[in-house]
Amino acid sequence: MSAELEPQSPWQTATIIRIEKRTPRVTSFWFRPSRPFTHLAGQHVDVRLTAPDGYQARRSYSIASAPEAGAGIELAIERLDDGEVSPFFHDVAEVGDEIELRGPLGGHFVWQVSDGGPVLLVGGGSGVVPLMAMVRHRTLRNSAVPVVLMLSARVWDEVIFRDELIALDDRLDGFDLVLTLTREPAKRPADHSRRIDVAMVIEAIERLPKPPALAYVCGSNAFVSAAAQALIDAGVPAGIIRTERYGV
Ligand SMILES: Cc1cc2nc3c(=O)[nH]c(=O)nc-3n(C[C@H](O)[C@H](O)[C@H](O)COP(=O)(O)OP(=O)(O)OC[C@H]3O[C@@H](n4cnc5c(N)ncnc54)[C@H](O)[C@@H]3O)c2cc1C
Repeated sequence: MSAELEPQSPWQTATIIRIEKRTPRVTSFWFRPSRPFTHLAGQHVDVRLTAPDGYQARRSYSIASAPEAGAGIELAIERLDDGEVSPFFHDVAEVGDEIELRGPLGGHFVWQVSDGGPVLLVGGGSGVVPLMAMVRHRTLRNSAVPVVLMLSARVWDEVIFRDELIALDDRLDGFDLVLTLTREPAKRPADHSRRIDVAMVIEAIERLPKPPALAYVCGSNAFVSAAAQALIDAGVPAGIIRTERYGV
């Protein structure tokens, strides 16, 4: 059964098997579900925390790992200082802890190499997470589908998965990375230091051998609205743009 036809996934426990700081505000947590599942790149899980008094908080987190990675499900969680759930992961969660989660969820914001391309990926901040799963999936499948990832972050040190993405960019195998820093000068010659705009989208598209057949945009509400509009203004047909909004 394909993931989108699956009935609502039941809650299950998953053990945290590894924790690694990615940036000053983002940490990756790898989970081993008690009932393992396969996911599609771009899907997410829901996490549920229960307080001793029974109060529950649920949040969604995209899966960063490729379906074929096989070393647990990686979630990359940004710490919102005044948030409810993300500070728990950053300040309290430890390797060996059991957390409730369910998934995989979401059948629209997914990509597999068989979907083809060229593909335009656009991420803002932690919105890179599901796009990272797609990029990793492409790499692990030795796919030649042309993909350009346009990624916006405030500063160089806040670019999640930065070194891994630059290493993939350096392979020159049809994956291209464009970084744009909104609060710092660009560090690489072809990168930018401003918010994503139409000119930047057009330049990113020109890195592809032909116009994108699929486009994925992920980040905060404000980011997705602005970036999707920039894509449309750059001539990307609205019908090929898929969006994932992280809220606030
Ligand atoms: C499909 C999907 C995938 C996602 N994937 C990721 C991911 O990979 N990584 C990631 O880091 N996040 C991801 N998110 C976001 C994540 O689900 C949480 O929203 C995020 O972690 C914040 O949760 P929190 O409990 O820490 O903060 P919350 O307690 O939810 O607060 C979030 C912000 O809202 C403000 N706020 C809360 N309540 C109110 C209120 N009543 N009025 C005004 N402001 C308020 C808070 O001040 C805070 O700044 C995803 C979201 C979705 C929908």
